Amino acid sequence: MVFELKRVVFEPDALKYPLGKKLYERFKQEDVEIKMTGSHNRVTCIPGKTARESFMESKRTLVVGVRRSRKFEPCKPSAHYQLPLATSCPAVCEYCYLFTHFGRRPYLRVYVNLDEIFELARDYINRRSPEVTVFEAAATSDPVSVEKYTGSLARAIEFMAGQALGRLRFVTKFTDIDSLLNVDHRGKTRFRFSLNAEKIIKRFEHGTPDLAERLAAAARVSAAGYPLGFIIGPIFYLEGWQEQYRSLFAALSRQGAIADLEDLPLELITHRFTKRAKATIKGLFPNTELPLDEAERTFKYGQFGYGKYVYPVEVKKEIEAAFKDMIGTYLPRARIEYFV
Ligand code: SF4
Repeated sequence: MVFELKRVVFEPDALKYPLGKKLYERFKQEDVEIKMTGSHNRVTCIPGKTARESFMESKRTLVVGVRRSRKFEPCKPSAHYQLPLATSCPAVCEYCYLFTHFGRRPYLRVYVNLDEIFELARDYINRRSPEVTVFEAAATSDPVSVEKYTGSLARAIEFMAGQALGRLRFVTKFTDIDSLLNVDHRGKTRFRFSLNAEKIIKRFEHGTPDLAERLAAAARVSAAGYPLGFIIGPIFYLEGWQEQYRSLFAALSRQGAIADLEDLPLELITHRFTKRAKATIKGLFPNTELPLDEAERTFKYGQFGYGKYVYPVEVKKEIEAAFKDMIGTYLPRARIEYFV
């Protein structure tokens, strides 16, 4: 998937690191505006008269910075910690939870002090020894989307290959994965793709590769020996949902090499939203067709004190039963890691 950057903003300190220097030299040769900023958290040069305009401009802005915090955020339940390599992504999925997470900072951001980040990861691994420590590299971004610039994911995969007690996982909708196929991963990284029914992808996941491209990329990743996995979500209870998700599983089952895998975890996530997310989405996409009617949902308190609107229990049960049935039919070897 090709997206064009309009501007790249550097923190001066980023130029002290090899990756920062490399990116600066690269973008100097290209047709992009280069700017400087005192802090990667404060980027004021992004134009736009309306919230939507500045949002779209942000998605074409790459900020190159240094991650200074000596702390990794926890990442329950799928991993122990986030591995911070990047934030945001160039795609525009109408439901993206990052909209609310980053508020005024939806720009793409990459960190260049990789050795320091990996050193910290090693400390976290040592602290939990002899337990295994799992890191998630896609908690705040789609890291594959910026890999062609940074190569950071490849470095993280190599780093984790050398850690007896470390594991890495990430998820992507992007299919630009060739540079990762020959990395020495030693089975320590689980490469997951985020999937949805084809109609949902077309309707809500703007700027992302289509289903066929994602499945073809997944087959290449699996052939390269990576442990594979899929996140299916957000699952929408919209007209024709059964039929649409059935087609998705049928398409997966046609990828013989994937369907036959002994180890194929599926993470199933039904759609949910917060009041804040709804307000942001309505502001950015006034004509959105996302189902955001609170009256059709159940309010549930989240672990961080704010509540979210989820599908009512009966709807969730209906979806779960249908998914179990479809998975049993089309992917009998796969295992449901969780359904929420
Ligand atoms: S690809 Fe992922 S991170 Fe990017 S906009 Fe879509 S949901 Fe958000």
